[in-house]
Amino acid sequence: MKEGKDMDGKERKLHLAFLEHPDDLPGALADREEGLPDGFILSGCGKKEDCRMILKEIRKGDDTALLPVFLDEFLSNEEQEASDGLARTREEMEVLAGNIIKRFRDVDENTLKKSLDLRLLAFLYTREEKKLRPVLDPLSRGLYSYPLMDYLSGGLLESSGWIAELLEKGYIREEDLVDRIRKCPKCDGAHLNYVDVCPFCRSMDIRQVSFIHCFTCGRVGPEDSFIREGVMQCPYCGARLRHIGSDYDKPTDNYICGSCSQTFAEPEVSCRCFLCGTWSLTENLSVRTYREYALSDKGILAVRSGSTEDLYSVLDTLNYMKPEPFRHLLNWQLDLSERPPDEPFCLMIISFQNIGEVRESAGWRKVSEMMDSLTKRLRGIIRKTDISTRTSANDLLLLLPKTGKKGCVVLASKVKELEDVTRQPDGTYLELLVKTAVFPGDRQNGEDGVSLVARLKG
Ligand SMILES: [Zn+2]
Ligand SMILES: [Zn+2]
Ligand SMILES: [Zn+2]
Repeated sequence: MKEGKDMDGKERKLHLAFLEHPDDLPGALADREEGLPDGFILSGCGKKEDCRMILKEIRKGDDTALLPVFLDEFLSNEEQEASDGLARTREEMEVLAGNIIKRFRDVDENTLKKSLDLRLLAFLYTREEKKLRPVLDPLSRGLYSYPLMDYLSGGLLESSGWIAELLEKGYIREEDLVDRIRKCPKCDGAHLNYVDVCPFCRSMDIRQVSFIHCFTCGRVGPEDSFIREGVMQCPYCGARLRHIGSDYDKPTDNYICGSCSQTFAEPEVSCRCFLCGTWSLTENLSVRTYREYALSDKGILAVRSGSTEDLYSVLDTLNYMKPEPFRHLLNWQLDLSERPPDEPFCLMIISFQNIGEVRESAGWRKVSEMMDSLTKRLRGIIRKTDISTRTSANDLLLLLPKTGKKGCVVLASKVKELEDVTRQPDGTYLELLVKTAVFPGDRQNGEDGVSLVARLKG
């Protein structure tokens, strides 16, 4: 994807290519002078299938997967979800496409070719507010699908397994619950017929009847067999039944099976699959939940660092706190430090200056080892009461309570010395940039945690 600016910084006019027929696609993607278009408009596709086919081709292409695609008219919810939707005017499409391309500047395009995970995460990242949404198609086998996942993977990955994996790695987070569906354990179809059946022989030929229980002989039978010439009389022993409670009563059993003649109070619910005909008990059906999912903070980091194997995640073992509560605590400490008696604290920012280069030259595994040993040593330096967080730029922030200027300088030099821990035989090492501030002294007028960290970073 090209940036929306020319070499001299002026906004370049976006080129959105019109596509009407699947045959137009190879031409639009072919190596032309100006390269790929900035996006596509699927326009006036005669047939819905044609449109779907074009969209599928674009989304599964290594170079085109993340390009903005707009629909000229509404086709179905499936296309809506896997495209960038309907945009009414040309201007609106250009604004939307421009935003996508702008966000794409944070993404390393090469990493997307290697990893479908990253491709999907980057798709969510480049579209603000975009979520993974299940789409209902009442006529489809499984009823719901995640079209974006199906299109991006070219149908190679099964969405439920893929979602579970991304969730476990923490790249996406759960959002609204959309539906819960039961499926046939044999064929995974969701078109099921629930039938009441006889619990003894599983026949569905059952009917509801009233029963009479004769107290004289103890026998039970359908109510209509107890009526003789207008009066109630037991067909077995001939006793006259006058009063309910003293001569007879009505037992709770009120079903009779037409196949095996057994009577019972509650029929069993069984389930027949419309697609493969298999009968299952309801407890044997597989249950599938459909939710919306959004990109998590960790997912954003993965997109930006171009790696789902997060080199920095090991830092989260250092009395880690999420950025939001960390900010609260920092602000609270800042305010507290300005009230007498003086109780200074220190904020330390550790940046990993050359991690990208070292990764290029030494490889991911080596850097990961270097980070591991570094973190192990860091753990020895920080105290139980110190807390850490990781910024979106992967800096390590340390909040060190009850630490004054002197203690802070000592600590900073100890951290800086840890560069040696990462030194390799060929001389490569991880460069650490350590910046510190001690409060209340180093706070400028009205600064809060966020502006303070930004100033320290320079
Ligand atoms: Zn039966
Ligand atoms: Zn009787
Ligand atoms: Zn089935």
